[in-house]
Amino acid sequence: MHALSSQLLKRAEAVFNEADVILSKVNASDMTFCSDKELAYLRNVLFTTKYLKDIGRVKDGKFYCSAVFGAAEQPAPLAQPNITTVNGALIYADTPLAISNLSAPIIGRGNANVVLDPAAFDAFNDPAYPFGIMFSPSDEQNPIGIFGSIHKGVQTNGLTENAGREGDIVYRNQCHGQACVSLHAHVQDLEAAAFPIEASIALLGGALGGALGVILLLLLRKRLSLGTRLSRALDKRLLKVEYQPIIHLQTGETRSAEALVRWRDGKEVISPDIFIAVAEKEGLIGRLTLYVIDRVLLEMGDFLKKYPDFRININISADDLMDPRFSSLLAARLKQAGVRSQQVGLEITERSTANAGPAVQAIHQLRSQGHKIYIDDFGTGYSSLAYLGELNVDGIKLDKSFTQTVGTRSITVSIVPQIIDMALAHNLAIVVEGIETSQQQDYFATLDTSVDGQGWLCGKPADAAALQKLVV
Ligand code: C2E
Ligand code: CA
Ligand code: CA
Repeated sequence: MHALSSQLLKRAEAVFNEADVILSKVNASDMTFCSDKELAYLRNVLFTTKYLKDIGRVKDGKFYCSAVFGAAEQPAPLAQPNITTVNGALIYADTPLAISNLSAPIIGRGNANVVLDPAAFDAFNDPAYPFGIMFSPSDEQNPIGIFGSIHKGVQTNGLTENAGREGDIVYRNQCHGQACVSLHAHVQDLEAAAFPIEASIALLGGALGGALGVILLLLLRKRLSLGTRLSRALDKRLLKVEYQPIIHLQTGETRSAEALVRWRDGKEVISPDIFIAVAEKEGLIGRLTLYVIDRVLLEMGDFLKKYPDFRININISADDLMDPRFSSLLAARLKQAGVRSQQVGLEITERSTANAGPAVQAIHQLRSQGHKIYIDDFGTGYSSLAYLGELNVDGIKLDKSFTQTVGTRSITVSIVPQIIDMALAHNLAIVVEGIETSQQQDYFATLDTSVDGQGWLCGKPADAAALQKLVV
């Protein structure tokens, strides 16, 4: 619980700090309010953020324009916030967004507001550990819950750092800076999770004496850290790969697929969002990537030889991209499997290209070997639109948060057409991620440019056999 609570707190601070920085930046803009120039600026700023979904301009209690929405035809009155601080900051816990069917927290200060990514804490979701994330602006005494399921929309009176138990619920509260975290767990769940360790301690500790028992407990805890468990799972080849079809939207043809790694440890399914981050932090990612490549070649090698135009995309991390051995390790494996490198695409995130010079070189090397390179989750990372030209990749994968803006009247003013135009101007292929509704699919299918789509509507991730059935 302590580890989870600290991770949540760290994320919360990152989210709130980013909101703070951007609010100051936008309030300092000296461009004409909501002019085309300022809108372009807001969009560029939005592209540099990690946890913000939109940046808006407000004046005298009215909304005028935002990066995603464009300029409003009529300034619209702002809804009532959950709290207004003494300095006039407006905090909204869970506001339905005009541009999608999501709701998100919004923080406003001065003549600007920012929409926070409602998915910023999704990676930490675990039904056994409900949590709440509270925001306390510097001029407000009591934090207000804006993420998670605990304290959402309510102000907590004097929340401090403490932990304890109330009935069957064990809780931990932790605060730092502008952020507080409340984490709950059911006593039974904790006992169930701890049982194997406790049982061994009871046996060994009892036999060897108390102090040694404590040391063993620490050792076992350490051994059972996620990184160690992951390393063992890799050794035992317990990770699986699923494939999600990528569809050519104009023709409905499945021309490629993305390989997505899966880890089930006993009864527990661990999200790749969590264990990939652990693998990256603990230096296991290189092994994991090669594992996925091997598994893909094992499961899909014959199929790829039979369908030489079919491609599988593999996700690689910044460490892989920067590893000078990676390209030759990959080449050797493909050669052994007899699969053409043109049939293996590589997805990298904008973040892994932050180290521009070496990234450009590594991309060049991999492309010269025949691989297609895609920028994943495009629009959510650090690089600006302009930077894309320098990277020299084959395509972008438009992040699902943008796909979700489709199907609302704001699409004509939204950022999506701009991204598409920009991609075309750079001769980049476009894969639209997270297509969930037919409205979204239709929008992209009827553009007068060729676009690929991926999402639950087109096909959920499934095993190799299921993918192959789609194609033959
Ligand atoms: P990603 O590369 O953006 O992968 C797409 C994610 O979106 C997948 O989540 C997929 O299941 C999900 N998704 C697909 N269609 C839809 C849809 O219509 N709606 C919504 N809401 N989601 C959809 P998943 O499998 O949980 O993977 C999460 C992330 O973990 C991936 O995001 C990727 O960044 C990382 N990952 C997965 N496999 C690997 C891998 O083998 N290596 C590395 N380095 N990272 C991986
Ligand atoms: Ca991907
Ligand atoms: Ca993606």
